[in-house]
Amino acid sequence: MSRRPHSGCAALVALVALAAAAPACLAAWETRVTDGIMGTRITVEVWAEDPLLADAANEAVLAEMRHIDTTMSTYKPDSEISRVNAHAAAGPMPISTELFDLLVTAKEYSRLTEGAFDITYASVGYLYDFRRRVRPDEAHIRAALPAVNYEHVLLDPRHHTVRFTQPGVRIDLGGIAKGYAVDRGIEALQKAGITHGYVSAGGDSRVIGDRFGKPWVVGIRDPQKGEGEVIARVPLVDAAISTSGDYERFFDEGGVRYHHIIDPRTGHSASQVRSATVIAATAVRTDGLSKTAFVLGPEKAMAIYNRIDDVDAIIVRLDGTVVYSKRMQPAMPSAAQPSVPAPPAPAVPAAPAAPAAPGVPAAPAPK
Ligand code: ADP
Ligand code: MG
Repeated sequence: MSRRPHSGCAALVALVALAAAAPACLAAWETRVTDGIMGTRITVEVWAEDPLLADAANEAVLAEMRHIDTTMSTYKPDSEISRVNAHAAAGPMPISTELFDLLVTAKEYSRLTEGAFDITYASVGYLYDFRRRVRPDEAHIRAALPAVNYEHVLLDPRHHTVRFTQPGVRIDLGGIAKGYAVDRGIEALQKAGITHGYVSAGGDSRVIGDRFGKPWVVGIRDPQKGEGEVIARVPLVDAAISTSGDYERFFDEGGVRYHHIIDPRTGHSASQVRSATVIAATAVRTDGLSKTAFVLGPEKAMAIYNRIDDVDAIIVRLDGTVVYSKRMQPAMPSAAQPSVPAPPAPAVPAAPAAPAAPGVPAAPAPK
């Protein structure tokens, strides 16, 4: 955890000290980075007048994340989701409102993405272990594939039950639970009165407000290069962003990359793009949509993204070229336009310190 007083605050302290009045100036950014919850890195950054409030707010975010991990991790044999996987093929199983609602949401994203997002991918996905370089052979994939279909998950809103239509169905929320956790984290911050903050879990992030009159700036990794190399920096105010990449959990074998996003139609790694970034109002939305491009390819996925009003997207194709959703296109395409669209301005300025967007709320005045 680090605490960095804003420089304006320090200046104010100096002035006040000169006047020999010396009231405490504690307003600061508080950043907390935690590994190990949901198998990923959690980052929380908040602005707070009172460090105790910042600590409590940060802790509330982590408590949400731990709770979601306990309920929704398929790695924990006694989590609610593991119990669903063990019993829901035998008959309707009552589940918590929270899990029920997220399963409803997951099915909505399956419909929206023409089946590309499908939590029953796990019916075949469980046969892979990317850390141990394990992958199923064709016979095992063929045997497991009929169980992959989100329509096999029956949700009864009257009794709050889930049932699988057949044996062999497994669900995994790894493609949406981090986005959900980020949204819950943001709600926890809002409840604590935080108006400027950032929460991220793995590839899913969301911000509230701005960062002292400037947008928050989130970098999109260049999938061809190492960590830290970015293809674009996206300025965000009150928005969420998710990036899916084939470089997250993978192994290469015989010139083929086996990675963690699975095509529900084939049971193989979905490899139609190198990365897909989605920007929208909530992290459930961006997480629920970012896998689509891997399964459907850049054109079909972009058509879906462009159909949804509040969604922007940046896709890196297999050849490294980049495509942007329609609202991120350069305002005035000219004859000098290169064939590979350059990062559009002003939506995606290259510099990390992006100028404040018009209408961005004023930064909190340091005390
Ligand atoms: P991160 O876990 O870093 O947020 P993604 O958002 O790209 O990464 O999600 C990848 C995860 O989504 C996989 O590890 C797996 O749990 C899950 N997943 C894989 N394929 C699909 C799919 N077709 N539909 C829904 N979820 C999927
Ligand atoms: Mg994600």
